[in-house]
Amino acid sequence: MFRRFCNTIARFMYGRYGNDQLNRGLFVLYFCVWLLSLFFRQVLFGWLFAVLLWAILGWLLFRTFSRNIPRRQAENRWFLDRWNRIKRWCTHQFTRVKDIRRYRYRRCPACGAMLRLPIKRGRRTVTCHRCRGQFKAFFL
Ligand SMILES: [Zn+2]
Repeated sequence: MFRRFCNTIARFMYGRYGNDQLNRGLFVLYFCVWLLSLFFRQVLFGWLFAVLLWAILGWLLFRTFSRNIPRRQAENRWFLDRWNRIKRWCTHQFTRVKDIRRYRYRRCPACGAMLRLPIKRGRRTVTCHRCRGQFKAFFL
């Protein structure tokens, strides 16, 4: 019985896109909007949350059952590009906080590289490891 059900689902999903990172992100977004709606439904317009939740759910289901796989893959690549940038930025901020007692981070004005510099108080000249350019930095 269960096996037959699984086979039916597998046959239905054949040639369809299925799940990916963007769909998981949409699911998390759906959950967050749903949580927000629990708190702010009375204050703001309740129908606004309902429309938003149905739109997210509709997009999620559309992507899952879509047969246009290259287009869905392109959307996922677009999403992953943005998501990885945000993730990298958050990781960098976390590392900065972790290193706050020993290092300071400065951006090279010539090439834009982020430099991790040991703290030596006062004004000093820094040499970039990437472009070998020098610039003045001040440490409190
Ligand atoms: Zn540089």
